[in-house]
Amino acid sequence: MNIVIFGPPGAGKGTQSNLIVQKFKLYQLSTGELLRNEIKNKTSLGNQISSIMRNGNLVSDKIVGDLIEKYVSNKLYKSRLIFDGYPRNLIQAKNLQDLLKKYDQKINIVLKLSVNLEIIKKRISERRTLENRADDNEEIAIKRFQTYENNVKPVIDFYKQSNLLKVVNGEASITEISDEISGLIESIKG
Ligand code: AMP
Repeated sequence: MNIVIFGPPGAGKGTQSNLIVQKFKLYQLSTGELLRNEIKNKTSLGNQISSIMRNGNLVSDKIVGDLIEKYVSNKLYKSRLIFDGYPRNLIQAKNLQDLLKKYDQKINIVLKLSVNLEIIKKRISERRTLENRADDNEEIAIKRFQTYENNVKPVIDFYKQSNLLKVVNGEASITEISDEISGLIESIKG
């Protein structure tokens, strides 16, 4: 099974993805994480994208598309991926669909964590203290939230039309959210 998880920055996507990965023996594919590693390792790609990411803007569709193809094409991960942070816009959603088809796979469920901006601001300021991420300050957090809302809306509609979308209350506790998500996954596993 392949899963897509959505949520604004600070919604708990990373936390919930980790829990799902352990419970259902999947692999997490976080484009944000992969991109941050490029910057940390000072690769040429990392140098190219560091100021884009620091300012809370999106990296090009081609760059992230190439990154995810490495995973989708790898037999080890076949139908065992949870996409965290991808797709971020309609072009990426269509690219993902084509890519999965090329490797004889599909998306089985799309989870959307909904959280309002006030809670996001609070969580981001807590995370900044813990993880020291360059893009975790309040001003950039608001911008990332707005970029997310604007770009992801058509993607959500796209998945709603194909009946894959499940909306989860991301303001509940970590355990409550995780229980709800597990129930949804179990129900489609049959
Ligand atoms: P995240 O960890 O998902 O919050 O992503 C952090 C940053 O990585 C974003 O603000 C973007 O700059 C970049 N990024 C992550 N995923 C994508 C994507 N699918 N498309 C474009 N940029 C992305």
